[in-house]
Amino acid sequence: MRRKSRQVKVGKIAIGADAPIIVQSMLNTATTDVEGCIAQIKELTDAGCDLVRLAVPDENSAVAFGEIAKRTKLPLIADIHYNYKLAHLALDNGAKKIRMNPGNMRDFNQIKELARRMSAEGVPVRVGVNGGSLHPDYKNMKEADALVASALECANVFESCGLKDIVIAIKDSDVLTMTEANRKLASVCDYPLHLGVTEAGTMRSGLIKSALGIGTLLQEGIGDTIRISLSAPPVEEVLAGKTLLHTLGLRRNCVEVVSCPTCARTEIDVEKLANAVERATAHINVPLKISVMGCPLNGIGEGEHSNLGVAGGKEKSVILKDGKIFETVSSDLLMPHFMMLLDEYIEEYSKNKGF
Ligand code: SF4
Repeated sequence: MRRKSRQVKVGKIAIGADAPIIVQSMLNTATTDVEGCIAQIKELTDAGCDLVRLAVPDENSAVAFGEIAKRTKLPLIADIHYNYKLAHLALDNGAKKIRMNPGNMRDFNQIKELARRMSAEGVPVRVGVNGGSLHPDYKNMKEADALVASALECANVFESCGLKDIVIAIKDSDVLTMTEANRKLASVCDYPLHLGVTEAGTMRSGLIKSALGIGTLLQEGIGDTIRISLSAPPVEEVLAGKTLLHTLGLRRNCVEVVSCPTCARTEIDVEKLANAVERATAHINVPLKISVMGCPLNGIGEGEHSNLGVAGGKEKSVILKDGKIFETVSSDLLMPHFMMLLDEYIEEYSKNKGF
């Protein structure tokens, strides 16, 4: 059962309580590159991203943030470190949420001033604590406890100034520390929690760590919003986040590609076709299942549970549509033919379902 959290609104996007679990990412373009940011925001939202965060490291970035905010409907989050004045500038320029790190902004008078303004303007804060930037005040504590204590101390300062709209993220590059800290935090407060394994790594290690850390907590009912941090293009973070939520049955809004690992029975180029299907459907935000299997052994059975499926054969491959055998096609022509069928299926589906 999902943990009961309070609900916080970031512009029109709700986080927490019974709101869908939100997928977030962060731009990796320079914030001063307005056109680059707009293009990346479009790419991320087309892929299904709910919220994006932009770094605001200086005054020029805060001004550019304002330009970007005027040109996108998505509520934007400003990521602030060290300098509370930049948080005020970001608010002046349309930030709908401020992310700050109590590890490097610990002047409580400045935080109180910021909190009073954000409370008056209805802008929530994300208190984001990272294992790598914990304040030295916490260095003698066990790390998971230190992450929780630092986050709650900062949240209390915001609360004391009337700001109730608080999301907490405690992240660590160590999955066990991250899960332990989030479990502890979840048991002592009702703040919505943003989950992530920070500095998770490349596509391989980052995906494994994130799926394990975030997935474990989500299965325990903990977590209201997620970011899968990868040393990869941000759109990959969004696609991975959607896939994780889909896999856990928490949000069904992406295409699931089922493909076999191939073996000595394989009759077609499964890897090439499965990758082409995945690329072609990455931006489709509906729960279709497409199976690409190398032979009839498991191919027919998988196809019977798919919207569209192929069971490869030496000379002829079997195509299944809506769980039934639809046609056989020369395996030489399979790739372009299947991709054409996929396009047609998506078009037909979108007309019927109106997406
Ligand atoms: Fe091998 Fe066929 Fe299974 Fe693919 S579906 S792994 S080709 S037996």
